[in-house]
Amino acid sequence: MSGLTAATRLAGVIGWPVAHSLSPAMHNAEMRRLGLDWAYVAWAVRPERLEAAVRGLAALGVAGVNVTVPHKQAVMALMDEVSPEARLVGAVNTVRFDDGRMTGHNTDAAGWMADVARDVDLRGKAVFLLGAGGAARAVAVGACQAGARELVIGARRMHAAEEVAEAVQPAFPHTRVLFTALADAASLPLLEGCEVVVNATPVGMQHSPGIPVPADWLLPDQFVYDTIYAPAETALLAAARERGCQTRNGLGMLARQGAAALEIWTGSQPDPASMEETLVRLTSLPR
Ligand code: NAP
Repeated sequence: MSGLTAATRLAGVIGWPVAHSLSPAMHNAEMRRLGLDWAYVAWAVRPERLEAAVRGLAALGVAGVNVTVPHKQAVMALMDEVSPEARLVGAVNTVRFDDGRMTGHNTDAAGWMADVARDVDLRGKAVFLLGAGGAARAVAVGACQAGARELVIGARRMHAAEEVAEAVQPAFPHTRVLFTALADAASLPLLEGCEVVVNATPVGMQHSPGIPVPADWLLPDQFVYDTIYAPAETALLAAARERGCQTRNGLGMLARQGAAALEIWTGSQPDPASMEETLVRLTSLPR
């Protein structure tokens, strides 16, 4: 990359593997657009080297990093401080280094919330959430923060759904948080009672094809969001569109969690729309 100087500030992403990450191209484009003398790189960090890598980045004066699979939970224990939101989500996806001090944040919940707010005001709505992993817990926190009246967490393992419900319910007494096993017959009426359906399972990605709930469970007036962004239209979103539902994929969530991280490191005001445009360009290239 041209234009690097001794004053250039550095940020990046750590994960294992990380070569597929869209974040470097997205962040570097936005740093350039904002006129910042910053650069963003990807570091492949083996799980057993996580602590050495994070302490090394802090010692080198790196401004901050995004943290992705498989480090989002393990990195929490290394932080000097963890934001209340990251504690609720149970994961850190953004670290800011200040003179060696490490603060862990989570911008996935805010990123999802900002993205979904483009289509629907969640205040007073009921949300059916598919999945009980890391992304699901961020969406669960986002839905409650956005004022959902009810949140139903549906997972193939009831116990996993219950764990997410137990983690978020105490912080949000105004949202009724329920959980269900997707194979359970009681899940259908619960889903039919929701205005918003969100997929936070990998079902629908190229390596995990399929649909996380039967297409005929969807109702035409529901808003259906898929956190997956590659492919741009999953089997769930295609089925929902055919049934007349409004739909959106997870590309805007990726852009908005990135924008929030960039703001945490730089104090600048990134433009999520231009970050999303970069992602649209990248994901439409043949891969
Ligand atoms: P994760 O922690 O591994 O959780 C995956 C969840 O999906 C678990 O609840 C898992 O259930 C469930 N699941 C997996 N296969 C399933 C199947 N065949 N049927 C039903 N449920 C199944 O993964 P994650 O980090 O939450 O990521 C999930 C998805 O979110 C990813 O595919 C990614 O595309 C998306 N995501 C998007 C963004 C964004 O910015 N747009 C950010 C993060 C993640 P078990 O526990 O029973 O396996």
